[in-house]
Amino acid sequence: MPDSAIPHPVSSPISATARPLYLGGEIYRHSSYGKKHPLSIPRVSVATDLVRAMGWLDESAYIESPIASAEQLARFHDRAYIAAVAQAERDQRVDVATAQLYGLGKLENPVFPEMYRRPAIAAGAAILGAELIRDGGIVYSPASGTHHARPARASGFCFFNAPVLGILALLDQGLDRVLYIDLDAHHGDGVQDAFHDDERVLTVSVHEAGRWPYTGILTDRAGGHARNLPMPRGLNDTEFRHVVEDAIVPLACAFRPQAMMIQTGADALADDPLSLLSLSNRALWQAVKDLVGLAPRTFVVGGGGYNPWSVGRAWAGIWAVLNGLDPTVPLSPAASEVLRGLTWDRREGRNPPSRWFDRLADDPREGDIRAEVREAVQHIAVSIGDL
Ligand SMILES: [Zn+2]
Repeated sequence: MPDSAIPHPVSSPISATARPLYLGGEIYRHSSYGKKHPLSIPRVSVATDLVRAMGWLDESAYIESPIASAEQLARFHDRAYIAAVAQAERDQRVDVATAQLYGLGKLENPVFPEMYRRPAIAAGAAILGAELIRDGGIVYSPASGTHHARPARASGFCFFNAPVLGILALLDQGLDRVLYIDLDAHHGDGVQDAFHDDERVLTVSVHEAGRWPYTGILTDRAGGHARNLPMPRGLNDTEFRHVVEDAIVPLACAFRPQAMMIQTGADALADDPLSLLSLSNRALWQAVKDLVGLAPRTFVVGGGGYNPWSVGRAWAGIWAVLNGLDPTVPLSPAASEVLRGLTWDRREGRNPPSRWFDRLADDPREGDIRAEVREAVQHIAVSIGDL
């Protein structure tokens, strides 16, 4: 029976029974982009420590991520660029010409000790993750949300584009309907542009309007294969739920994806310093819950997130949701210890509020649905007929 004959929502017997897999990595524990960089903080290691401390991670579901080979990276990236990033890691410096050509060595995408290995491992996880869901199932790689990287340029803290490499690996399996849903506060520009001319991939991005990289306006459809939902400052849980339920879920049902990648950047949360969106982690968890059954293969990746407490708790909770567990339960003593052990070298981190470390779930942040949110949802809803 062709896939197209399967009624909606598509759910395969495999995805219903297979255990989700967790792709983590020890490299993230001590790697930092430098003291002044937003990525000076631990993120993947916090999420991983939390899910272990909560008793949510069966060690047989944990996979230490492999490093992508240069050959694998070259499926999307220019070979000269790959070589330049590797060389910069070896030299721990870049010359002026290389810096300009590839966007390396500046404040945004600095030279740091693991600047090649770290993104190459995030990419390796994306490629392996695609393979692990070949026959269906759910895989989670919180490090693999690097959605801004370009074929020959680092961008927005991203050196290699793990989401693109993961989607390409899914396409290379012969799939021809892959849905990418980007919930990060920033537009998923690198992924949208990578598949601009590829009708096998539909990219959907919800992000803060008027924020870097300033792309992804409401009417931007990238040749027909993208939908964008720019959101006003202060986006609340009620508004986000409206977007998910009345724009993204109907889009997904109409597109009938054989595979879906969900980018769960945690920088749209109210406690994140890099956006002015105002979600609770409950909103992100509910979105994942609403979306995860809509394709037989689901690949959940992380993304932004620049407050170690809020990103760690959000990503740990996503793993709970993927396993059918309730992330709003009280912290275990061990999990409490993980959160109390964190530090953040920023003004807000010097005296962290207790809600950052004495519970996993944020208080809900419900509110009115503003007209501009309704209009954006309506705009996307009427575009479903164009798919
Ligand atoms: Zn972001």
